[in-house]
Amino acid sequence: MPIATVNPATGETLKTFDALGAEEIERRLALAATAFAQYRTTGFDRRAELLNRAADLLDEDRQDIARTMTTEMGKPVTAARAEAAKCAKAMRWYAENARELLADEYPSADDVTDSGASRAIVRYRPLGVVLAVMPWNFPLWQVIRFAAPALMAGNVGLLKHASNVPQTALYLEDLFRRAGFPEGCFQTLLIGSGAVENILRDPRVAAATLTGSEPAGRSVAAVAGDEVKRTVLELGGSDPFVVMPSADIERAARTAVTARVQNNGQSCIAAKRFIVHTDVYDDFCERFTAGMRDLTVGDPMQESTDVGPLASEQGRTDLEELVDDALRLGATARCGAQRPEKRDKGWFYEPTVLTGVTDAMRIHHEEAFGPVATVYRVSGLDEAVTLANDSPFGLSSNVWTRDDGEVERFVRDLDAGGVFVNGMTASHPALPFGGVKRSGYGRELSGHGIREFCNVTTVWHA
Ligand code: NAP
Repeated sequence: MPIATVNPATGETLKTFDALGAEEIERRLALAATAFAQYRTTGFDRRAELLNRAADLLDEDRQDIARTMTTEMGKPVTAARAEAAKCAKAMRWYAENARELLADEYPSADDVTDSGASRAIVRYRPLGVVLAVMPWNFPLWQVIRFAAPALMAGNVGLLKHASNVPQTALYLEDLFRRAGFPEGCFQTLLIGSGAVENILRDPRVAAATLTGSEPAGRSVAAVAGDEVKRTVLELGGSDPFVVMPSADIERAARTAVTARVQNNGQSCIAAKRFIVHTDVYDDFCERFTAGMRDLTVGDPMQESTDVGPLASEQGRTDLEELVDDALRLGATARCGAQRPEKRDKGWFYEPTVLTGVTDAMRIHHEEAFGPVATVYRVSGLDEAVTLANDSPFGLSSNVWTRDDGEVERFVRDLDAGGVFVNGMTASHPALPFGGVKRSGYGRELSGHGIREFCNVTTVWHA
């Protein structure tokens, strides 16, 4: 895949970049190792000062970087500005909380005396150089949710960003440099995915985190496993959105639209499978379809646009194939299922609602990475849980009910890293984020996220 900015709203190639050569990669690996040797000795106050400065700079840059993101991957510019603001907030949260999250732990003397210890301490030390392989869909947020905790823990980062967001990737390196982080603490490597293996095998790299598709995750995890290096994987999702009869149907349907089409439908935690109790199915379907039909699809630079283009031509082709397969096998399109008539340029696709989906269809099992929803009818809670879990993925889930007993059943039984009750899934710095099954392993954000790339060290005193 060429490293280039190609505007998804027009298909026009705006800027291309050369990939780094072997010599430059070597220079940057050496720089990262040198930077870590020094940076690991800094204290929380200094790291927080640098990260807060980066957050201030990002706030100042918000308009410009939002436009860059929109140009590179097509998200509505309003959403791009919100993403930048969310990143600054997460940086400040980690700047403020890292010291406490990584504070020494003191197992009680009673518990450890039979080990011969007079006292013991658990200390969280940094691991080293962490390689981050990141996707284009939230091109700032995915990187910051790795970088903010990693830098606060005393690690340094190497970023291999997706090949279609090179300007955002270079912006991130520049942001941390301008904030005053020592040279080499955060570097962007403009490289193709083929260069990842050698870098990950390099002894100077301690660990890797990857957010992206399952094949990419499998490939990076295989190399890391071979090298016995820690990984965190944040992969795909096909989150269920379950609506029970006691729910506020109007609010559920309205939220369902946002949950499905956020980021032009290209979010791992977008609700993708809508599982609706038969008593409220018709009402929900009608409202949801009307909401999807009413969305404004168009130029993502316009403030009024709800849904922009898909990020790549291939992404739209993949989505079209999923929808066509479902229609061929008997599904019904309640709306969409086509390219907008008025847009001959760019990779647009109309918000689509499919019903009558069966497990013979690819879309039942695969992730629809675009504004396409499937709606299922179920007769009760057991069927809803079974259907919700009938997916290779397990990232998050949404349940709509006012019945506490039902909530407890969903929390007990849904195979997912999150259960959001009467609301849509969203990430927040203070809450752990991650999945089970083919959605990956490990957690980002909160105390769980910052400890992933720490050497949890036992200090034992005779
Ligand atoms: P992708 O094709 O897997 O790319 C993600 C990153 O991995 C890119 O930097 C890509 O580089 C790199 N890559 C691809 N194949 C690789 C390989 N074999 N070895 C090493 N690196 C490789 O995914 P995407 O299309 O950008 O993103 C969409 C996917 O990400 C969806 O499945 C979505 O659900 C998932 N996602 C998950 C989360 C989460 O938190 N769980 C968040 C966002 C997105 P190139 O660009 O150079 O190919």
